[in-house]
Amino acid sequence: MALSGIQIYKLLPQTNCKDCGFPTCLAFAMKLAAKQVELAACPHVTAAAKAQLAESSAPPIRLVTLKANGNSVKAGNETVLFRHEKTFFNKPGLFIRIKDDLSLDDIKAKVAPAEAFKVNYVGIDLTVDGFAVESVTGDPGAFSRAVSTVRETTHRPLILISRDPAVMSAGLQAVDGENPLLYAADATNWEAMAALAKQHQAALAVTADSLEASADLTEKIKAKGVEDLVLDPGGRDFATRLIRSTQIRRLALKKNFRPLGYPLIAFPGDAGENESMLAVQAIAKYAGFVVLDSADPELLYPLLVIRQNIYTDPQKPIQVQPGLYEINNPKPTDPVLVTTNFSITYFSVANEVESSGLPAWLLVADAEGMSVLTAWAAGKFDAERIAKDVKAFGVADKISNKRLVLPGHVAVLSGELEEELPGWEIRVGPREAVDLPRFMKEVLANV
Ligand code: SF4
Repeated sequence: MALSGIQIYKLLPQTNCKDCGFPTCLAFAMKLAAKQVELAACPHVTAAAKAQLAESSAPPIRLVTLKANGNSVKAGNETVLFRHEKTFFNKPGLFIRIKDDLSLDDIKAKVAPAEAFKVNYVGIDLTVDGFAVESVTGDPGAFSRAVSTVRETTHRPLILISRDPAVMSAGLQAVDGENPLLYAADATNWEAMAALAKQHQAALAVTADSLEASADLTEKIKAKGVEDLVLDPGGRDFATRLIRSTQIRRLALKKNFRPLGYPLIAFPGDAGENESMLAVQAIAKYAGFVVLDSADPELLYPLLVIRQNIYTDPQKPIQVQPGLYEINNPKPTDPVLVTTNFSITYFSVANEVESSGLPAWLLVADAEGMSVLTAWAAGKFDAERIAKDVKAFGVADKISNKRLVLPGHVAVLSGELEEELPGWEIRVGPREAVDLPRFMKEVLANV
């Protein structure tokens, strides 16, 4: 049962020492009751009080970590229903499903390209997180061979899929010492599956026909000593999956209902069609693990990008380091283009210039991670700041033509910049990055 802020306050030292970053113990207690801070932020809580507060301070959705060969995938520890309330923390792991009726060569042929697939998105390398091996033959030997073959081809964490404890045991022997996720315990096999999970220190997924039955199962399995649980909300169509996932998340966050306070797993391919759309739904609402049947680049690319966009802090723009960047080996006579350090802005400009083959210097001004117009409107991208960065990054030492090209959206800055940088020629470039190559070829080449 969750404690109220006042109940928590009574267990705190009540010295108002401010070491936790809050002005009073009461303020800290209120934040703790709202799950917005960790109990560890107060270094003065007694052991007895800690024990009493443990339940209240535990995250409403348990953190579950799968590990293998130095790689790990984390799910859970989320604190909000909607990203804009704060942020989502742990990106759902994307796993590729491999079935054990494939030949060992076919398994390698599916795993190897998915393992190597990488998307570089605004300077970040995005990859899949692991593989899920499913027993469809029901043969422990075939499952064990499939798991071993997958493990030979990838070092990433695994999910093992079988409802038969004997088959699951054979798969676990093939990856002894790892912490995979076992899918799944149900009403008929939960005791044997819980025993396997406990023996191998593996996480265990739970599946049932209703939320009530799921909650009942997690309590029984927890009583057997297995704490790292994952829930299959059931329902493979858009509506059922969305409704159940939302109900589970709400119960965990708003009612602090511990029996459903676990990460979710989704199988978008099980519906037979619309795998991509169901996968997007699962990423947004609220899967911790997403098992995909297709490993095609045209599916993985957008999923990796949309996951990256959803699991970033909405209050912190993705930034690149301000500085002077070289594109296509520029010479001192080549132009200096100016932009801001919002990563999408930077990569839009850099990619257009790079793919044109034209050499240029790119001055990335420190605009606190905002795009050109937003930064200008917020007073973070003005003539004074650009002139300061021209000097700070030693632009004049690298070039012989003192010419700067401003983004067209901030043409209004050109007069002020001429005053800030006497002796420099300030040109106004196009508004859109896509028009830069033509501008460089047709306008700059003729001045
Ligand atoms: S650190 Fe602990 S004792 Fe100090 S103000 Fe915060 S809650 Fe109170």
